[in-house]
Amino acid sequence: QTTIFWFRRDLRLEDNHGLFRALGQGNVIPVFIFDPDILSGLSPDDPRVTFIHQQLQSINQNLQRFGSGVHLFHGKPNDVFKHLIDRYRIKAVFTNTDYEPYAQKRDHLVKTLLASQGIPLIECKDQVIFERSEIVKDDGNPYTVFTPFKKKWLSRFYPELTLAFASEKHLEKLARIAPNWLSLKDIGFTASSIPVKPINTEFLDHYDAIRDFPAKDQTSYASVHLRFGTVSVRKMVTLALRTNETYLSELIWREFFMQILYHFPKTVDRPFKSRYARLPWRNDPADFKKWCHGKTGYPLVDAGMRQLNQTGYMHNRIRMVCASFLCKHLLVDWRWGEAYFARKLLDFDLSANVGNWQWAASTGCDAVPYFRIFNPESQLKKFDPQSQYIRRWVTDLDELSYPQPMIDHKEARQRCLDFFKTHLNN
Ligand code: FAD
Repeated sequence: QTTIFWFRRDLRLEDNHGLFRALGQGNVIPVFIFDPDILSGLSPDDPRVTFIHQQLQSINQNLQRFGSGVHLFHGKPNDVFKHLIDRYRIKAVFTNTDYEPYAQKRDHLVKTLLASQGIPLIECKDQVIFERSEIVKDDGNPYTVFTPFKKKWLSRFYPELTLAFASEKHLEKLARIAPNWLSLKDIGFTASSIPVKPINTEFLDHYDAIRDFPAKDQTSYASVHLRFGTVSVRKMVTLALRTNETYLSELIWREFFMQILYHFPKTVDRPFKSRYARLPWRNDPADFKKWCHGKTGYPLVDAGMRQLNQTGYMHNRIRMVCASFLCKHLLVDWRWGEAYFARKLLDFDLSANVGNWQWAASTGCDAVPYFRIFNPESQLKKFDPQSQYIRRWVTDLDELSYPQPMIDHKEARQRCLDFFKTHLNN
């Protein structure tokens, strides 16, 4: 009999909870499914698909030392599992829980199919320390404010929660089979030239002092690795506990937004605060285009958008400035910005992206109040005082062709205040 391990957002052999549990059963076939429902709509050279493929390649190479390999499939997960049921005598399927609304639906369908054949789908907690309703208020309701969530998170935490699952030590329990390999071309993609940076944690001792200065470029770049599971969250939390409280807080923000999306899936495309649904955003396509291309005439906004367009990454402080500028200065619906970031960010994660966009637009839970409007010029003076960051990305800053600010800050600020006041009080 065979056990299947289904890789998804956990592309690593080390400290992988679901893989560890599967290996306990023996004769494990690891699989990964390229799902057309997720891939359709991505550009053919999407760097995230290249990254996933590279990661699977490296896993496969490691598994070959054990006479095994990953089985890759391209198709709807239910169809793939029908094929696997026909082909093998499956005892159980193990996987790590994915909490996003689409994944929950997909997994429900797969679970039902497997159950009809008497096969259990066993889901393991792997991408968070606390999942779903593990951190809720005393009355059982979910938290919608970060600080009490964090307090409860810390009070419930104990170090054993970060103990590693030594999956990498049991790889001899894999089935000895030739991998079923697919190239990028086989799934309709080409290799991207945008690389994913490795995690950098050397400076974590000073994280809180330097993290807000984009020119220093000293943040951990862990987001993309946490997104695809190329690092274990247990490892990152252990590191944070040893080095920096603020860094730990950031990892808790990640879990805060994950549980918000889990409990309030409608907030994917609807404001958390329902009365904000009536805001008639201006949504000027020409304004939006200037923002996307980094041509607003505000160097900090333009630097951020150009960094995003060229590298698939943007520094957190600048993400806040760019998001605020789009929603508050230009009065463009946060969903437009969220969708643009989703297309471009290597670390795009639905819960963090939606949560942070709603935060910036003031429509979210525990969001910045609508009358707090980032001033892109004072943000520049404060966080990039020597203009090093903007000069790195806005190379035409001194040229005549560099645009004038597309809107005066004071005017935009007043327009924004009037907009929110008028439409929220009606
Ligand atoms: P570090 O500063 O080193 O932070 C460490 C880790 O903490 C991050 O890797 C991330 O997992 C977590 N983290 C930090 N800040 C936040 C936050 N505000 N919310 C949730 N988790 C956080 N992060 C994503 O992972 N995916 C997204 O799609 C995403 N979209 C965003 C959109 C906007 C408008 C804003 C303002 C922020 C967004 N963030 C998103 C959060 C944050 O900007 C990134 O996590 C961070 O910049 C990634 O770089 P880093 O790993 O070097 O961060």
